[in-house]
Amino acid sequence: MGDVHSNLQAVRDRIDEACRLAGRDPAQVRLLPVSKTHGLGPIREAYDAGYHRMGENRVQEALDKWERTRDWPGIEWAVIGHLQTNKAREVARFAVEFQALDSLKVARELEKRLQAEGRALDVLVQVNSSAEPQKSGLDPADVPAFAEQLRPFDSLRVRGLMTLAVRSADRTQVAACFERMRDLQEVLRQDDRAAGSYDELSMGMSGDLDLAVAHGSTCVRVGRAIFGERTDRNAYWKTVE
Ligand SMILES: *Cc1c(COP(=O)(O)O)cnc(C)c1O
Repeated sequence: MGDVHSNLQAVRDRIDEACRLAGRDPAQVRLLPVSKTHGLGPIREAYDAGYHRMGENRVQEALDKWERTRDWPGIEWAVIGHLQTNKAREVARFAVEFQALDSLKVARELEKRLQAEGRALDVLVQVNSSAEPQKSGLDPADVPAFAEQLRPFDSLRVRGLMTLAVRSADRTQVAACFERMRDLQEVLRQDDRAAGSYDELSMGMSGDLDLAVAHGSTCVRVGRAIFGERTDRNAYWKTVE
């Protein structure tokens, strides 16, 4: 795998090309580099290339990276992985965005901790668009009621939806996940009782971002195509020992 800078350029080119084919404005699709398991060296390369917000899926690792990069002007951290209630306090301290909200318990805990910190947090509701039992996220049918229950939480700024599509070589199955998300986004946009706005549709990763953009994604979360294959899920900790 080449360097982070040229990989970012190549991924951005893929996004722009997918936008062109779909007749979309490339400015509507942001690229969120997913730096989980990677050390601060490659993250600094992405930062120097102009990407100041990084996606991380584990809170402890994200928190450590946040602490070690506090003197990088404008660096921001998005938590994109499932959250246990007991980690909400950490997320409320440092994250600018949380893309995996799927329980009221976590929403309540985040709200409490954000109030204490005097902060607000952009959140996306995670949807299980493939109905795979091992995946986090709400059943699409349950999302409108959930979105209504989020109304009292003033510190949570609901911006939209996030999903991981099924991992399959069958593109029609992957596309079906993305279509389900777009339909759900439409439903929520029409629903006055739902908290927040639904302009954000976070979907698409290294393998399926082109298809996701064709189906209306506004945020692609890309790890491997930028930073290379992940070897060991604890690899980051070995870089800071
Ligand atoms: C790791 C991860 C990604 C990035 O996946 P790649 O295949 O490395 O691009 C995207 N979203 C979430 C939630 C992840 O955990």
